[in-house]
Amino acid sequence: MHPAIKILVGALMVVLGIFSLTLPDFFQAFVNLVKGGIGPILILVGAFIIWLESDEWKMRRSEQKEERNMGVQQQLQEEVKERKQASKEDETEEAEDDKHACPQCGKEFDTERGMKIHQAQKHD
Ligand SMILES: [Zn+2]
Repeated sequence: MHPAIKILVGALMVVLGIFSLTLPDFFQAFVNLVKGGIGPILILVGAFIIWLESDEWKMRRSEQKEERNMGVQQQLQEEVKERKQASKEDETEEAEDDKHACPQCGKEFDTERGMKIHQAQKHD
């Protein structure tokens, strides 16, 4: 809309407002308007506030739920990490245990028994 038209509409509203003030039954009409309008306005505003706040409340509750879920997920992830590290350590330990190096020549054997046999055969 053109600014000039807006100004014209505004001026018209001001003129109409001033004109309505000069009417003899204006005050009574104004009181009636307030009386008639206050109920619906209260209902609208009240409903709006309830809707707004309940929406915010719901959002906050779901956020808290998400946070709680996040917490659980983080705990799970940390647990998985710890388990992975533990299993890695186990693997390395097992790997070390699996290999039996001959103390004389350093040749590695899968079992201590094999290494002992090797020692007996090659070094004694
Ligand atoms: Zn050896």
